Amino acid sequence: MFGRAPKKSDNTRYYEILGVPKNASAEDLKKAYRKAAIKNHPDKGGDPEKFKELAQAYEVLSDPEKREIYDQYGEDALKEGMGGGGGGHDPFDIFQSFFGGSPFGGSGGGSSRGRRQRRGEDVIHPLKVSLEDLYSGTKKKLSLSRNVICSQCKGKGSKSGASSRCAGCQGSGVKVTIRQLGPGMIQQMQQPCSDCRGTGETISEKDRCPNCKGEKVVPEKKVLEVHVEKGMQHGQKVTFAGEADEAPDTVTGDIVFVLQQKEHAKFKRKGDDLFFEHSLSLTEALCGFQHVLTHLDGRQLLLKSNPGEVIKPDQFKAINDEGMPIYQRPFMRGKLYVHFNVEFPDYLTSEQGKALAEILPKPKASTQLSDMELDECEETTLHTVNIEEEMRRKQQQQAQEAYEEDDDGPGGHGAQRVQCAQQ
Ligand SMILES: [Zn+2]
Ligand SMILES: [Zn+2]
Repeated sequence: MFGRAPKKSDNTRYYEILGVPKNASAEDLKKAYRKAAIKNHPDKGGDPEKFKELAQAYEVLSDPEKREIYDQYGEDALKEGMGGGGGGHDPFDIFQSFFGGSPFGGSGGGSSRGRRQRRGEDVIHPLKVSLEDLYSGTKKKLSLSRNVICSQCKGKGSKSGASSRCAGCQGSGVKVTIRQLGPGMIQQMQQPCSDCRGTGETISEKDRCPNCKGEKVVPEKKVLEVHVEKGMQHGQKVTFAGEADEAPDTVTGDIVFVLQQKEHAKFKRKGDDLFFEHSLSLTEALCGFQHVLTHLDGRQLLLKSNPGEVIKPDQFKAINDEGMPIYQRPFMRGKLYVHFNVEFPDYLTSEQGKALAEILPKPKASTQLSDMELDECEETTLHTVNIEEEMRRKQQQQAQEAYEEDDDGPGGHGAQRVQCAQQ
């Protein structure tokens, strides 16, 4: 890799550029580079050449392997070692590594030494499914448009294969703006360069590939078949690895479908179980009921009470193995819970009341009051109320009062702010 005679000269320049001694620690280098890079950033009026030099110096010295080569053999040995294309990394990549986040929003490439590939973005599509789909399983065909590498120019974008560096971003593909928010506080904003759309290079009009018009990629229609399997959950992902947009020098991202279960009119799902609300008349609750329930796969289930059984308001009952199939074990199923509501009559005539009293179990003796006991009581009236509504109104009132107290109390604004923060 560096088979030429060792050169002792030219192995201090990088240290001088960063203004650190030759034995500087990795931490010292990082600090020095960060300070200098912010000061010399082109978007803050710094000299682009100087900025590039800084980045180059830091790139080498921050990599222990490269630093060792540099210390022994100098710059030339490294240039040779970095290989064809005169590439290396662009200075902004290193700059970004301090502040985090890639301008392309991807999940970050493996920055293994030397050549590295950008990871393309994953494309995420929500996919609406019914509860019936999740119960029985289904296949959904989806037609999508994606970019693929142009086959004519093999992703170069030009007929000759030549391109030149974008003037708008000095070839970095990113434009960075730095704003001073306050002493020692800097906000950095970065966007893909609009001139070259983040590629860092431009191709002359005449040389553009006629098939992709210099775009390097062409759109392609693709039909994907999503297998929705029995028992899959809301939010579950179905991934098509490497099917997202292709781009040169990029590992193609995935297309990910995220299942979104539509609300069902009758059933609610909780994990592997299903819930079903059923209203009974008072007569049904007391004397027995039968109900035909159409399940998610169209089967008719007969629900019925046991002889003599009384169903109480808010009671739950369950049918085993009639819930959702379990994902990847579709022969096992959860439970189907039935939640009963009992509709009471609003009013009874006195004959109805008497007739019922005859039939229904007698009240306990202890609840029968003597005339003397009644004489000692005060009469009251029980009003019908909507309890939730009343409680809500009371809470609002309390909050309002607390707010007003704070307002003219000694706490003043401070007290108000605390209250706001708690909400
Ligand atoms: Zn550009
Ligand atoms: Zn092309």
